[in-house]
Amino acid sequence: MEKIDKFYEIKHLLQCPRCGKKIRFHSGGLVCKKEHRFDIAAKGYVNLLQETKTLKGYDKAFFASRYRFLQAGYYRHIMEEVVQTVEQFARGKSDFVVLDAGCGEGYYADQISRRLDRDVQVLAFDISADAMKQAAKSLQPVKWMVADITNIPVKDQSIDCILDVFTPANYKEFVRILKPGGVLVKVVPGAAHMGQLREAAAPLLRNKSYTNEEVLDYFEKTFEPVRRTLVSRTMPIGQEHLADLVRMTPLLFDVEQRKLDLRGVDEITVEAEVLVGTVR
Ligand SMILES: [Zn+2]
Repeated sequence: MEKIDKFYEIKHLLQCPRCGKKIRFHSGGLVCKKEHRFDIAAKGYVNLLQETKTLKGYDKAFFASRYRFLQAGYYRHIMEEVVQTVEQFARGKSDFVVLDAGCGEGYYADQISRRLDRDVQVLAFDISADAMKQAAKSLQPVKWMVADITNIPVKDQSIDCILDVFTPANYKEFVRILKPGGVLVKVVPGAAHMGQLREAAAPLLRNKSYTNEEVLDYFEKTFEPVRRTLVSRTMPIGQEHLADLVRMTPLLFDVEQRKLDLRGVDEITVEAEVLVGTVR
């Protein structure tokens, strides 16, 4: 399949992020009724942002590190839980549409596309074009988009399942785009997540411990909780993977890395809570 052709399958789901009008195809790109144009990159993603935004720390090197680290399998148990959850909700439904909101380098969207039926549509977006360049290397027919979570370029009530994995949410937009009965699968760090790293970096950290209580409260205000699962694994880690982890973890973004002594760290806990909810 041509990298551009795959977007035909979802054009009925998209809307122009500038004016909200329908989108059609025109000479290798997307165009709305008001002639707002969006290019499909030859690499296989579409840019639905007007201006490129760069968030501090979230650059090409960050996504490359995160890609290597995830491919090494440290988050596999979390991915398995996410895939099985989506699979369960998709079972027996036709035209099931999954949207990975803030998908980064695309690990979860790629795996869902691999493992679920062919008629499940997987859309994924991130605000970073660098993330989409990395993600679009996937051989899966995921519809990768550069887009803004505060203005998601899909129609009202068009999505069956939203994934929000280790990334900020926008519940107003999520409620708008979910179909009636649709689900949000939100993954947040567990209390023991990266505990060894946190301990080693403790003298340099402003927040010594982490709690996800605030995030959970906010989730339950908007979504009726269906399920909450703690997934945790502690694994040995080598110095080469540790270097990638240090580059990719937001925990250490504000830390002066030359002051960091990680020689004592030889294992790592990767822990998350997988929350599932429906719109209240
Ligand atoms: Zn428009």
